[in-house]
Amino acid sequence: KKFVYSFNEGSKDMKDLLGGKGANLAEMTKIGLPVPFGFTVTTEACNRYYEEGKTIGDDIVESIFEKLEELENVTGKKFGDVGNPLLVSVRSGAKISMPGMMDTILNLGLNDETVEGLATLTENPRFAYDSYRRFIQMFGDVVMEIDKRKFDAIFDGKKEERGCEFDVDLTTDDLKDIISGYKALVKEEMGRDFPQQPKDQLMEAIMAVFRSWNNDRAILYRKLNEIPDSIGTAVNVQSMVFGNMGDTSGTGVAFTRNAANGEKALFGEFLVNAQGEDVVAGIRTPQPIAEMAQAFPEVYKEFVRIAELLENHYKDMQDMEFTVEREKLYMLQTRNGKRTAPAAVKIAVDMEAEGLIDKETAIMRIEPAQIDQLLHPMFDEAELAKAEKLAKGLPASPGAATGKIYFNASDAEAAAANGEKVILVRLETSPEDLAGMVAAEGILTARGGMTSHAAVVARGMGKCCVSGCSEIKVDEDNKKLGIGEYTFVEGDYISLNGSAGDVLKGQIKTVPPELSGDFGKIMSWADEIRTLKIRTNADNPRDAKQAVEFGAEGIGLCRTEHMFFEEERIPAIRRMIMADTEAERREALKFLLPYQKGDFKGIYEAMGDRPVTIRLLDPPLHEFIPHTDEELHDLAKQINVSYEKLAKKAEELHEFNPMLGHRGCRLAVTYPEIAEMQAEAIIRAAIEVRAEKGLDIVPEIMIPLIGLKSELADVKATVVKTVESVMEAEGVKFDYLVGTMIEIPRAALTADEIAQEAEFFSFGTNDLTQMTFGFSRDDTGNIIKEYIDKGIFEEDPFQSIDQVGVGKLVRMAVDLGKQTRPNIKLGICGEHGGDPKSIAFCNEIGLHYVSCSPFRVPIARLAAAQAAI
Ligand code: ADP
Ligand code: MG
Ligand code: MG
Repeated sequence: KKFVYSFNEGSKDMKDLLGGKGANLAEMTKIGLPVPFGFTVTTEACNRYYEEGKTIGDDIVESIFEKLEELENVTGKKFGDVGNPLLVSVRSGAKISMPGMMDTILNLGLNDETVEGLATLTENPRFAYDSYRRFIQMFGDVVMEIDKRKFDAIFDGKKEERGCEFDVDLTTDDLKDIISGYKALVKEEMGRDFPQQPKDQLMEAIMAVFRSWNNDRAILYRKLNEIPDSIGTAVNVQSMVFGNMGDTSGTGVAFTRNAANGEKALFGEFLVNAQGEDVVAGIRTPQPIAEMAQAFPEVYKEFVRIAELLENHYKDMQDMEFTVEREKLYMLQTRNGKRTAPAAVKIAVDMEAEGLIDKETAIMRIEPAQIDQLLHPMFDEAELAKAEKLAKGLPASPGAATGKIYFNASDAEAAAANGEKVILVRLETSPEDLAGMVAAEGILTARGGMTSHAAVVARGMGKCCVSGCSEIKVDEDNKKLGIGEYTFVEGDYISLNGSAGDVLKGQIKTVPPELSGDFGKIMSWADEIRTLKIRTNADNPRDAKQAVEFGAEGIGLCRTEHMFFEEERIPAIRRMIMADTEAERREALKFLLPYQKGDFKGIYEAMGDRPVTIRLLDPPLHEFIPHTDEELHDLAKQINVSYEKLAKKAEELHEFNPMLGHRGCRLAVTYPEIAEMQAEAIIRAAIEVRAEKGLDIVPEIMIPLIGLKSELADVKATVVKTVESVMEAEGVKFDYLVGTMIEIPRAALTADEIAQEAEFFSFGTNDLTQMTFGFSRDDTGNIIKEYIDKGIFEEDPFQSIDQVGVGKLVRMAVDLGKQTRPNIKLGICGEHGGDPKSIAFCNEIGLHYVSCSPFRVPIARLAAAQAAI
C-alpha cells in the first residue's frame, strides 16, 4: 500500500487520501503551475499512526525517505548539505480545512551548519539567520509545545534592547543572539538540545501533525462541524521558497473574486519581504493586491493569468496563497473560497452567465441557511464597524434593528404609532406582548432560548430578535435597562444584530434587503428544479402576503389561537372560558364568530387560489387567563365577574403539565361548540370569498393532537356536521378536506387507522419531538445546550429533525398512511419545515410539502431544490 505521494502523482479528486491542501497542490502541479515540489503523507498513514499506538511504521518511514530523496533530486538540493541545503515546510491538511490543527512549520532542515551554508549561498546572512530563528520558534511552539510567549519574550527583549520598532530592523548579529536564546530555552524546557539532524526534525514534525489531529481544539472543531473523527489528516512536505529574501520578494493571499460582494476582480493582500503568516499576523500593514502591479509588473501579470486559469479549472472562486522569491512567482495553495451570502449569490449567477457552471451547480453553491441574511435589513458595514458592542445574547432571529427602547407592549405600540422606531425590551415575552412585537423593529429579552416565545414569534414575523441575553438587567417596572456600566431608560437608542446575537450602543444605519436581481434569478432556478412544495405557517393576512412575496405556495399551518389574543376579542374568550354552562359558552362564541370569519377571509384573500390549512384551537385554555393576583382583579372588573369566581376558575384550569393536558383535540371533544364555531367560520369565510372574489377555495380543516382514530372521528363528526349544515343553509356545495396533525407518537404508530378518517397528515414535529424524547421544549433549553457540549446530542433536535428516532416515526406514519389512503396529502409544519437538513429528509421520504415561517420560505425553496439535485 502506498502511504506517500509525490505532488506529481495526485489530483484534486484525491482529497480523502491527500487532504484538501495536498490534493490541490497535486492538481496545480499536474496542470503545470509553478508549485515548489514536495510530497504528501496520506490520511491513511495518520489513521495507522493511531492504530499502531502513536508510532509510524517502518515501511512508512522508508517511503517518506524515498520521496525525500526524489525531492532532493528534483530540487538539486540536499537535506543537511551545507553547500546547498534543502529546506522544507511541513503543512497539515485534512480533507476539510480545519482551524485548530497544527500550525505550519517553515524552514525545516536548518541547523547550526546549514544556516551558514544558506548565508553563503544566498549572500544574505540576515535572511539565513532570520529563517533559522523562525524555524526554531515554530518548531519549539508546535512540535515541542513550548509556550509561545517564552519565545516572544526573548525576541521582544532583543528588540527593546536594540531600540528597534520593526522585526526587519534587527541585524544579523541580533538574530544570532536570539537564536542562542531560543536554543537555551529549548534545552531548559525539554532537557535536550534542539534537534540538529534534518531527518529527525522531519519525523518529529510529521508526528506532531498526526498528534494535532486529536488535540482538544481539533476535536471540538470537528464536533461543532460534524466532521467524523475517523478521516484523519494528511501531511504535506514541500520545498521552501522564500518571500523574505529582500525587496524583490514577498508573500500574499488573494481571492479570484471579491469574497464580500462577489465582484469579479482580484481581491487580496500582499507583503514585501515577508514569510508565511506575516500577512495575516499583522506584523506590518500589507498592501492591496492591485499595488503588486506597480511593485512587480511581470509577476503580477503572471499571477492574474494563473488566478484566471485556476478559477476556470475549478469552476469556482479560488482562495490562493502565493510567494514571490526574487521576482519569481510560486503558488502554495488554492481552494474554493469562503464568501458572504451576497457574494455567493452574485458569483453563482455570474458564473452561470459566463458559461462556467450550469444552473444546478449554481444552486448547490449557495448555503440555504446563509440566504437568510439577504431577506432582512442589514447594518451599514462602515457604521457597524464603529459601533460599541454592549452584550451578547442568542441570535434568535436574524436581521438588524435600531430604535428606542420600550419596556412593555402598549408603550411600544404607542411609540410606534407616533412614528418612532422601537426596540421592545422584556425579561421574556408572552402572547400578550404580540402587538408590541408587531410594532417593534426588534426584540431583546433577558431570558428564553432559541425556541422561546420571543424567538419563535420573531422568526415568524421575520423580525430581528436577540433572546436569552443574560448579561442585561431588565427592570420592567422602572423601565430601566442595565448593561455593564450603562443604564438605559425608556426612549434611549440601542441596536440589535439578530444574526449574531449582539446588542449595540446607539443608532446604526440599516439598509433594506434586495429581493429581485441575482437573488430572484437563483430562486426561479430553484423553483424549476424542486419537486417539494413550499407552504408557510401564517396566522394573519400580513404574514400570508409576505410569504407569498417570498414564494409560498399555500399555508400549511394557520394557528387560530393567535387571533384570540387580539385586544377586543380576549374578553369574549375569557367569557367563554368562564362560562358555567354550554348555553353561556355558546353565547360568548357567537360573539367571536364574525371575528374568526373575518380573519379567515383576510387569509384566503391574501393567498388567492393557494391551499390553506387551518388548525382548530390548540393551546390549553389557561393561557388566556392572567396569572398574577393583580391582573385577576383587573380582569374580574373588566368582564364583570367576582374576583373569587375568577380566581377559582384560574385554579381549576391550572395544570401541572400543560403540554400534556387539556389542549388540542381534547378541547373539541369536551367543548364541541368551540370546534363548531371555528368550522362555521372557516366555511362561511370560504363561501363569501368564493362569491366575492371568484376564488376556488378548498379549505383544509386540521384537527390537532390526535392519538386515537376514535378521537379524530369524534371531532371530525362535529366539523362535518357543521360544515354540511352551513352549506345546506347557504345552498352551496364545494370540496373541503378534514385532516389531522401527527404529533403524538401513538398517532404515528397507528397512522393506518388514523388515515381512515384523515384526508391529510401534517407532521407537527415540534410536539412530536417533545413527546418522543420526553423533553419539554420550553424547559430544556439549557439541558439541550449541555447535551450538545457533551456530545450526547449532535444537534438540537428541535432545530433539525432527529432522523433516527422521530424520523423513524414520521417515515412509518407516511408508509402506514399511504397503505390506507394512497393519495393522502402529506406535509410537515413544525419548525423543522424551515431547516435545510430536515427539508432534505422530507423530500427523501416523499412528503408533498413543507411549511415554514414566511422568512424561511426562500431558504426552503433553495433547500428543496438542492434535495432534488
Ligand atoms: P494554513 O493551512 O494555516 O494556511 P499553510 O500550510 O497554508 O497553513 O501555511 C501557511 C503559510 O506558510 C502559507 O500561506 C505560506 O505563506 C507559507 N508556506 C507554506 N509552505 C511554504 C513553502 N514551501 N514555501 C514558502 N512558504 C510556505
Ligand atoms: Mg494556507
Ligand atoms: Mg402541536
